[in-house]
Amino acid sequence: MSGVEAESAGQANRVRCCVAGGGPAGVMVGYLLARAGIATLVLEKHRDFLRDFRGDTVHPSTLEVMAELGLLDSLLAIRHQELREIHAQIGDTEVQLADFSRLPTRCRFLAFMPQWDFLELLAAEGRRYPEFQLRLQAEVKDVVEERGRVTGVLVESPAGTSRIAADLVIAADGRHSTVRARAGLEVRDLGAPIDALWMRLSKRPQDPPQSLGRFDFGRLLIMIDRGDYWQCGYVIRKGRFGELRARGIESFRGDLAKVAPFLGDRLHELESWDDVKLLSVAVDRLRRWWKPGLLCIGDAAHAMSPIGGVGINLAIQDAVAAANLLARPLLEGRLSARHLEAVQRRRMFPTRVTQRIQVLLQEQVLDRVLDRDEPVRAPWPLRLFNRWPWLRRIPPRVIGVGVRPEHVRSPVREGRAGGG
Ligand SMILES: Cc1cc2nc3c(=O)[nH]c(=O)nc-3n(C[C@H](O)[C@H](O)[C@H](O)COP(=O)(O)OP(=O)(O)OC[C@H]3O[C@@H](n4cnc5c(N)ncnc54)[C@H](O)[C@@H]3O)c2cc1C
Repeated sequence: MSGVEAESAGQANRVRCCVAGGGPAGVMVGYLLARAGIATLVLEKHRDFLRDFRGDTVHPSTLEVMAELGLLDSLLAIRHQELREIHAQIGDTEVQLADFSRLPTRCRFLAFMPQWDFLELLAAEGRRYPEFQLRLQAEVKDVVEERGRVTGVLVESPAGTSRIAADLVIAADGRHSTVRARAGLEVRDLGAPIDALWMRLSKRPQDPPQSLGRFDFGRLLIMIDRGDYWQCGYVIRKGRFGELRARGIESFRGDLAKVAPFLGDRLHELESWDDVKLLSVAVDRLRRWWKPGLLCIGDAAHAMSPIGGVGINLAIQDAVAAANLLARPLLEGRLSARHLEAVQRRRMFPTRVTQRIQVLLQEQVLDRVLDRDEPVRAPWPLRLFNRWPWLRRIPPRVIGVGVRPEHVRSPVREGRAGGG
C-alpha cells in the first residue's frame, strides 16, 4: 500500500478541525492542534510536498517557534544555509544592509532550506499524534454551509468526491484560496506593480560572496546562495513577462548579464523559458478572515509581496496564533465566532504593518527605478548603512523577527504521542 493510500485508509468523515491546504500554515496548525489532542485532518491537493521553488526562507522567529516545540535540532540537522548578514550591490557600491548578530533570538540567522524538507519534518512530527491526519491528493472543491455556518468541505480525491464534516474549517489553501472564494469572503487588493521570475544558475568557486541583491541599469536580481547553485529572482514590471518572452530567451540572458556580469559564463543553463518560473506578485488581504465555522490563515488571508521573503514566516505565525487561541475552545466544544475574530484581531496588525512597508517599497523604490536603463548610484540613506553599523540592526528586526512574533502557548495532549 502506498503512503498516500495508507493515509487515506480508514479515515472518519467527521473531524473536529479540517484544514484545507498543506503548506506552511496548514501543516503547522494541523500539527499544533493534533498535539493539543484535537482530531485534525489536513487536506492537500498535491500528491507530495515536492513542488517547484516557492520560497525556502526560515526566519529567526520561525526558528524560535521550532525551538519552543523542541524541533530546532531536527530542523537544523536538515541541509541548509545560514545567512547572517545581508549585502546588496547597488551600482558599483556594496551596501551592508543587515546584521543578524544582535537579534534577541536563539538563532541569529536566516536559514534557507527546501520548503518540502521543512513541511516533511512537521508532518512527520504530526504523525506521532493519533489525532493528526494528512490526506494527500485531496482537493477541497467547496465549503458546506448550513444556516449561515460552515460545517464542512467537499473534497475530490482519486477515490471520488466526499464530504468532511468539521466543527471548524481552516482555510490555509494559499493565495488562490478556493475556500475563501467559495465562502464568499471579500478580498481587498492592495496592488503590486511587480512580478518576479525565478530560476536556478550554478554556483562557481570564483563567484563573489553572497550579496542578496544586485541592482543596476533598471534591473534587480535577487541571488540566494543554495550551496551549489544560486536561486535567482529577477524583478520585472507587472505584466511584462509576455513582452520579455516575445523578445526571446537570448535577450533575457543579456538582461541578466548586464546586472550580474559574472553570471555570463553560465547563462546558457537557461535553455528555454521552461527554466524560468513566473511568480505573479499579489498583495491582498481579506476584510474579514472568518465566518462562523471557518477561519482563513496564511496566504489565504493575506498574500504578501516577495519583498523581505516574509510570506512563510507570517503563515507560521498565523498558525501559532490560531492554535493558541482556538485549541482550548475546540477541546472544550465551546468554539464561537468570538474566538475566530480574536485570531484576526491578533494577526491583522502585523499583517497590515508588513504589507504597508512592502507596498511603500514597491511604489517608492521599485516602481521608480525599474526599467531605467542607466547606471544606478546607491541613494544616500542606504550609503549610511555602511557608515553607521547600528542601522544594520533594524532590518533583521523587521524581516527576521517581524511585528508581534508569536510564541507557542497551545496545550500539549496528555500522555505519550504515538510512535512513528
Ligand atoms: C515562486 C515563489 C517564491 C516565493 N518566495 C518566498 C520566499 O523566499 N520567502 C517567503 O517567505 N515566501 C515566499 N513565497 C511566498 C510563500 O510561498 C507563501 O507566502 C507561503 O508559502 C504561504 O504559506 P501558506 O501555507 O499560507 O500557503 P501555501 O504555501 O500557498 O500553501 C497552500 C497549500 O494549499 C494547497 N492547496 C491549494 N488549494 C487547495 C485546495 N483547494 N485543496 C487542498 N489543497 C489546496 C497548495 O497545494 C499548497 O500546498 C514565494 C512564493 C512563490 C510562489
